[in-house]
Amino acid sequence: MKLFSYILCTGILAGWSLPLSGQGSTPDPLMEHFHKISSHDLLEWAAILSSPEFNGRMTGSPEFLKAASWVAENLEKWGIQPAGDEGTFFQWFEHGYNEVHDLGGLSLHIPLKGGNTITKQYSFPDEYFPGMNSGSGEVTAEVVFVGYGVTAPELDYDDYAGVDVQGKIVMFCRDVPYKDSRNPEYARWVKYCYHHYKLDNAVKHGAAGMIYIDGLHANPNISYNPGFVWCGIGDEVLNDLFAGQKHTYREVMDKIDQNFKPNSFPTGKQMTIRANTTWHDGKACNVLGMIRGTDPVLKDEWVVVGAHLDAVGNCGVLLPGALDNASGCVDIMGAARAMAEAGIPLKRSVLFAFFGGEETGLVGSRLVTQKLEQEGKKVLAYINLDMVGNGMGFHLAGGSTYPEVYKHFKAANEKYLHRSMGASEVRPHYGRPRSDATHFEKAGIPTMSLYTTRSVKPVYYHLPGDDVHSLTPEIMEDAARLLFLSLTGIANEE
Ligand SMILES: [Zn+2]
Repeated sequence: MKLFSYILCTGILAGWSLPLSGQGSTPDPLMEHFHKISSHDLLEWAAILSSPEFNGRMTGSPEFLKAASWVAENLEKWGIQPAGDEGTFFQWFEHGYNEVHDLGGLSLHIPLKGGNTITKQYSFPDEYFPGMNSGSGEVTAEVVFVGYGVTAPELDYDDYAGVDVQGKIVMFCRDVPYKDSRNPEYARWVKYCYHHYKLDNAVKHGAAGMIYIDGLHANPNISYNPGFVWCGIGDEVLNDLFAGQKHTYREVMDKIDQNFKPNSFPTGKQMTIRANTTWHDGKACNVLGMIRGTDPVLKDEWVVVGAHLDAVGNCGVLLPGALDNASGCVDIMGAARAMAEAGIPLKRSVLFAFFGGEETGLVGSRLVTQKLEQEGKKVLAYINLDMVGNGMGFHLAGGSTYPEVYKHFKAANEKYLHRSMGASEVRPHYGRPRSDATHFEKAGIPTMSLYTTRSVKPVYYHLPGDDVHSLTPEIMEDAARLLFLSLTGIANEE
């Protein structure tokens, strides 16, 4: 059956090619497969990755592994070679995860004259957001405000000095009072801006729970502590807790930032935080596929392209992770399929990487850079894709620093895609690393991050709204086509 259809197809193709060659043109596999990359396929794949079946692709969960298998099966089907552990597509690592059973809850107890209280329940997701790595249980206690939640003796800074938080709920803000992460001075503060540090520091001081001023969205990049319950809060809760205090929240924070002097105090207000979660040990993986180069010498030079496959899971409501980052994954899949099926021999080798553990602290990408180093691979360029699926144009961060890599993207865009395209320098940054690209930069690999610009739809960062409807398929098609041409160009450059 297969042989028959092959003969039929070749017959048809041969028939078609006759008049074409008669006119002096031969079919060009590059253009043929360029045009085969279709927004229809990319959107369908993004819909699959964002579906309830994969449950938000939380690293360590069974659904993440299902998503990883689905990607690997596709790569294999298209003829991409495995590049993971022991001849498979997978690079494994241990990774526990927290199952969040429901939205939990947050409420404020307001005392009335005569000894009664009324309780104000906050609503999801506009007023509170469940803690993705929260312990399970319920805590009712007074809320103590502790600024940034930082204890830094060598910087003569301690938000916990002079306040008793034993058995209380602490409230603090993300980041640190020093703001300029482009200044080397920031390096002294950086260890205190990790979410993990802040939670561990609250536990160390005997707090029973915490409310985190971190924006209203899912954040799984934080410690899990079995008995320690927490959630994120927004302006409504802040306004209620600062009502009747001497200063507003903004005034207090501005003052801390100006003179690096903590300003912590008990709010005198009682709250209840409720969380319903189960911690599981688990394992996770990166998915790695490759097309080997054919040049006897140049095949040992590699071009690597990567996107994180994981997302932020399910907080009692599905967090689909379509733009962040099913979009980047399917852009790469589209390019990988075209490269494999076009069958254009590549001089250099290309590695396609789909990382686990990005949202939990850039775990998978660190392991890939370690593997490349251990194997002594010479990597000419790394291209990172994170949130590449909403907008009208492209930007390549790092493109100005690496013109020899960027020129392939620029040429492909100018010749075939005609999108607005910008490039910028790699700038020194002393803050908490926030992209998989960081590990490649640190390994000394010329690294660029591809982004879509000129958003045409709202961005639902780490929210239930980040579903396929938040994507613009046309730019994803062009992103995959851009990658296809650029990666082929880099791999085959003389
Ligand atoms: Zn992301």
